[in-house]
Amino acid sequence: MNNFEKMTEQELIEYIKKIKQKYAGKIAIPAHHYENSNIVELADVIGDSYKLAVECAKLEAEFVVFCGVRFMAEGSAVLAGEGQKVIHPDVTAGCPMADMIDEDSAREAYELILKLSGKKIAPVVYMNSYVDIKAFCGEHGGTVCTSSNAKKIVKYYLDQGFSVFFSPDNNLGINTARELGITDNEVVRIKRDLTISGNPATAKMFLWDGFCHVHQRFTTEDVENLRAKYPGIKLIVHPECTEEVVNAADISGSTQKIFNEVTNSADDVIWGIGTEMNFVQRLADDNPNKIIVPLRESYCFNMAKINLKNLAESLEIIDKHYSEGAGLKNEVTVDSKYKQNAKIALHKMIEIVES
Ligand code: SF4
Repeated sequence: MNNFEKMTEQELIEYIKKIKQKYAGKIAIPAHHYENSNIVELADVIGDSYKLAVECAKLEAEFVVFCGVRFMAEGSAVLAGEGQKVIHPDVTAGCPMADMIDEDSAREAYELILKLSGKKIAPVVYMNSYVDIKAFCGEHGGTVCTSSNAKKIVKYYLDQGFSVFFSPDNNLGINTARELGITDNEVVRIKRDLTISGNPATAKMFLWDGFCHVHQRFTTEDVENLRAKYPGIKLIVHPECTEEVVNAADISGSTQKIFNEVTNSADDVIWGIGTEMNFVQRLADDNPNKIIVPLRESYCFNMAKINLKNLAESLEIIDKHYSEGAGLKNEVTVDSKYKQNAKIALHKMIEIVES
């Protein structure tokens, strides 16, 4: 066994590259944009959660070593092909927002709002959730969405006469509602203790009260401070930010949209970005001719749990598995009672988005 603790960053990188090369085509490394740059640089696929879901479903490698948080690795395991294995370098890399709802609370809330409203309601869950909720949505004719397609997905159901039960992120929910022209009178908020505010009879969207602490942290004061410091600055924020921050910014959009807007802009645009700090830092590094500053420094410590050391350990285990038949570690498996319905929900998302 290698002693990864004692290796330098460069030695770890070389080791990872060596194993990747040794098993070329058999190992794929997808990484989320919020991962550290040294991980992103070693990845075969880089993207936001929508891009990763679509691209991972196409991977043919026997091993997918997923550099992201657990719900992403789990999503990849749901879509994995026959015999394909998903390895998560640090199984403790979770997501506090995904923990804010589970199957039982979703079921209770759904039954309650069906009863109170008398409406047809489709459950739509943000990708940032665990497999039990995705399966619940698949089972009840709903789907999954990401920040890049939430508007299209919600509109799809509204156009068919459904209201939408949206979870877990209340900020993405309300920002999507506003994009679709949905008013306060058409929104019901559901707290985790199932207390309801708003009128179920007129509701088009029922919003769970989860949030991402990384994005909830940004304030309108941050926006004012940055505008005062950099006159003419263009502010782009992620829709997991509060409605007030999204309204105060110039643009809001998914991680991929932020990446595209900033990368493709003229050099003289000054960008203020309201999303995860590792990603903002990488955009700044990749665009040295542009001034790119964070709305404030806000890190996702769970994403940062994936590092060169645990990635190298995962690859070493795969190496030993191939060469000596050793057992695997940190393999992401999905309870068979959830897999089929979660798959239905994820495929439904892809079908609506690609239609
Ligand atoms: S950035 Fe927020 S939503 Fe994304 S993984 Fe981190 S805590 Fe979860």
